[in-house]
Amino acid sequence: MHLLRIEVENFKSFGGEITIPFDEGFTAITGPNGSGKSNSGDAIQFVLGTRSTKVMRADNVADLIFNGGKRGKPARHMSVTLVFANTPELGGRRRLRIDEEEVSFTRAVRLNRKNQPISSYRIGERNVTATEMRRTLSEAGLQGDGYNIVLQGDVTTQAKMTDWKRRGVLEDVARVTAYDSETVSYTHLTLPTNR
Ligand code: ATP
Ligand code: MG
Repeated sequence: MHLLRIEVENFKSFGGEITIPFDEGFTAITGPNGSGKSNSGDAIQFVLGTRSTKVMRADNVADLIFNGGKRGKPARHMSVTLVFANTPELGGRRRLRIDEEEVSFTRAVRLNRKNQPISSYRIGERNVTATEMRRTLSEAGLQGDGYNIVLQGDVTTQAKMTDWKRRGVLEDVARVTAYDSETVSYTHLTLPTNR
């Protein structure tokens, strides 16, 4: 599913509003150290709903709000929107079960008067719960803690993990882990090796 663009407002180092477009094919984001390359990836994970802010290198969601940098004013609100193309695939079915050509997912955080962070979620213009957003995204195969995003060090970790763990990763990607708890018996096929 093609991610068309990310619209970011006051997320981490991005003070103000900025749109990061992703054309067809391969997009690389380049820039000096600390310029926000990894923060762009964090923005995607933030919307996909990773379970831990540590993954986005922040202690809590309030730390994800633009803090003013060296000279600016700290913001009290931030939001990230992911806009996906939802054109019908072969067979006419759309990946997201929403009858629109483009679908946007927004996750926002604002600070209330007591400086407590309040989260909100939107699909298009419609306010939804975190659970509904997570469910809609995962129906299309998008998960914050899944392998949609390969982070720095992930490849090394996967190369070094035990065979059993790596199998878990592959099963996760193949989306068969959901069947693990079902009481069906599985036949495991062992292919001969050349060794
Ligand atoms: P590198 O090449 O070193 O990996 P990078 O381009 O990936 O750099 P990022 O990790 O995306 O850089 O950005 C790091 C910068 O983001 C740091 O300068 C940090 O101070 C800034 N930053 C993180 N959180 C916030 C925040 N809440 N408000 C303002 N700036 C922030
Ligand atoms: Mg980085």
